[in-house]
Amino acid sequence: MEPSAGSGPNSEPVPERTPPSVPLDAGSAPAMPAPASSLADAATVPGQVPDAAALANPDAATASDAAPPSAAGLVFSDSFEGNGTLDPARYEIVTPSCSGTGLISSDATDAHSGMRSLRVQGGGGYCNHVFFRPKALPAELPDPLYVRVFVKLEQALGAGHVTFVALHDAHEDKDLRLGGQNQVVIWNRESDDATLPELSPNGTALSVAPAAKSWHCVEWMIGSQTPGLSTWVDDAVVAGLVVDGQPTADVDRQWLRKTDWQAKPTDLRLGWESYGDQANTLWFDDLALGAARIGCGSR
Ligand code: CA
Repeated sequence: MEPSAGSGPNSEPVPERTPPSVPLDAGSAPAMPAPASSLADAATVPGQVPDAAALANPDAATASDAAPPSAAGLVFSDSFEGNGTLDPARYEIVTPSCSGTGLISSDATDAHSGMRSLRVQGGGGYCNHVFFRPKALPAELPDPLYVRVFVKLEQALGAGHVTFVALHDAHEDKDLRLGGQNQVVIWNRESDDATLPELSPNGTALSVAPAAKSWHCVEWMIGSQTPGLSTWVDDAVVAGLVVDGQPTADVDRQWLRKTDWQAKPTDLRLGWESYGDQANTLWFDDLALGAARIGCGSR
């Protein structure tokens, strides 16, 4: 496949290679405490929570880094405030190849916004994986595609490779996986196991290690233009998680060994998959997909 010329519907500026930031609790709103009356229905309701209808506004202006929060251009959003019943028209649970102890539930004991979030109980070992996938995405996702989601981890990322976000790439018919390794956030390309950043000491230092037990705003952009991939955590671009088209040692050199790499995501899965033995519990809230940067200030 050939990379396309560098002009698309949006003109997101190339992210600066800023020094690595290590967010702790920065930028994340505290979770809303749940009233005692809602605790009883927490955590164990199987399935996912439907929510507000998706918005579609493909003509919306591109958001800039300076003023990201905007509902414009969203093709899907959910604050997971539903009543706990599964909406089979909106989500499905996916456990490719095998399933085990992984569980997804609506949780009224913790939320980034409102009263509820989705809780993922992910086990160690591949087959204890579990993901939820929006079914009602447009057949053609925006290019570039921007995703924003708030994530909270019960345990910090470990040494082993894990995935908490997967997107199917139609160009390679394989997944792009956002997760962790070496205690930091990484991207992994399923087709050849390339990582972003490279897992050298210098590369690892260019990513971030989100603190456990607090909400983090995770955003990424995947597109056919340059840069092809950018990632922000708690409103700061992560220097080690950017594919800018120029192979950089410790960052995207390994990734760009596929010189024609260009992703075309066709879905989104959130959950947990552990290729070693690390189990974890995660919460997801305030998911949004759009054609421009969404930012951490909007729901
Ligand atoms: Ca919520």
